[in-house]
Amino acid sequence: MYKPVIGLEIHAELKTKTKMFCNSLNDPDEKHPNINVCPICLAHPGTLPVINIEAVKKVIMAGLALNCKIAEDTFFERKNYFYPDLPKGYQITQYQKPLCEGGHLDIAGKKIKITRIHLEEDAGRLYHIEGKDYSLVDYNRAGVPLMELVTEPDFETGQEVKKFAEELRLILKYLGASDADMEKGLMRVEVNISLTGDDGPSTLLRASKLGTKVEIKNLNSIKFAADAVDYEIKRQTELLDAGKKVVQETRGWDENKKATFSQRSKEEAHDYRYFPEPDLPPLKFTLAQIELIKDGLVELPSQRRVRFARYGLNDTQIEIFTVARHLGDYYEHVATELDSVAKDFHIKKRLKGEFPNEPHLGRRLHELSANYIITEFPVLMSAKGLEIDDLEGFKISSEAFAELMVLIFHKELSSTGAKAVLKEMAETGLHPEQIMKEKNLGQMSDASELETTVDKAVANNEQAVEDYKKGKEASLKFLIGIVMRDSKGRANPQMVEEILKNKLK
Ligand code: ADP
Ligand code: MG
Repeated sequence: MYKPVIGLEIHAELKTKTKMFCNSLNDPDEKHPNINVCPICLAHPGTLPVINIEAVKKVIMAGLALNCKIAEDTFFERKNYFYPDLPKGYQITQYQKPLCEGGHLDIAGKKIKITRIHLEEDAGRLYHIEGKDYSLVDYNRAGVPLMELVTEPDFETGQEVKKFAEELRLILKYLGASDADMEKGLMRVEVNISLTGDDGPSTLLRASKLGTKVEIKNLNSIKFAADAVDYEIKRQTELLDAGKKVVQETRGWDENKKATFSQRSKEEAHDYRYFPEPDLPPLKFTLAQIELIKDGLVELPSQRRVRFARYGLNDTQIEIFTVARHLGDYYEHVATELDSVAKDFHIKKRLKGEFPNEPHLGRRLHELSANYIITEFPVLMSAKGLEIDDLEGFKISSEAFAELMVLIFHKELSSTGAKAVLKEMAETGLHPEQIMKEKNLGQMSDASELETTVDKAVANNEQAVEDYKKGKEASLKFLIGIVMRDSKGRANPQMVEEILKNKLK
């Protein structure tokens, strides 16, 4: 058996107004090439970089959220290499002394150690055009602030890699540090993977202890990263089992073949000739400054999960309200509203000298509303062309929604009626009671009205009535169904059943 040894290198473009060292806009959505550029990010002679403090602060925030130690004294360095997407001929980065070191992130009960996070600038983007003997370059991305995070080789499965990347993405989004969208290239995950022998069946492994490391790059989604890891574990295992060697190389992921493929064998030994950037001052922070940033951190996903558990939600619901953060905020408004409804209910009853047996009223209202939000909102919102987390254009206010929950709870609305009301609320933004009255959607609980409908159903379905009298229980369900249909779902099914049973005795 071999033990997979996996470490990640993750780049994330920071969400800042301007670039890392100049005032050009940092706009990842800009479609027009070479528009957000200036003499500084195009490396004209005689220009000087200026540090974007917003970017520095965002990396420190990420470092604090990931339990890192923040450097009080650090500096930028030049990494020299030639490539057409790099106008200066060097990248300004951090090498000897990253801004953040020695953190960790816990995923599924496992601690993944974070070696370092540093701040650097992104390069431009090259476009290779099929059938042409030239390439085009877009410098909109050149100089965009970029954070690089390196983990210790603590992962053993694709699933762990997936969990980590998802949680990191969520944290960066919560912090407003990065949109971290891999499909858009805002977050890029590189996987380092090797196998090591647990009990040393292979002489190769026994000799080196650590197997040869393969790097997987150009992964466009978290799922691809996880799939590539699982594939590599299999591929390397098979090689070693066959007595072959794993070649040190860079591989890519072919989504069609669901396989990794060799991109670059023989990693050239780079000499980047790192040296401190002479055009920028060193970065110095006091502990008080770092504390101030720490105190200003938003609630993190892990903290939010704990808080949402207090509403009595299950893990799936908690996860939905953590990932779809605005939806979660909406839920909280509703839950708070319903808490006061439950409190009022008890106070009013008590004033009348009644002591209703409803100790969990608040919790039941929480559950009811979570269920409705999670199952009904996605449908209503996509019908309006809204994303699940985009509640700005959504017409149902949390107050109106809470009112609807109370109506359902008091059985003034059936679930069919509630769905119709909800749909109307999404269209008009009106309050549920008004819609219920105007559209006559309230639950039919008036005994005489119900009785008329039941009588009609009994008269028109002699066969079913006979069958039921002979002991066929299903016929009763059938008759209830007829009444529900005739009442357009408004009849109270429990009452219908009772009336029917009485009539057919
Ligand atoms: P390099 O000098 O080759 O860039 P680093 O030590 O900087 O190597 O590590 C780069 C990444 O590779 C890190 O994410 C680290 O966790 C991972 N890594 C280090 N050693 C191994 C190994 N034996 N197998 C798999 N990944 C490893
Ligand atoms: Mg390295």
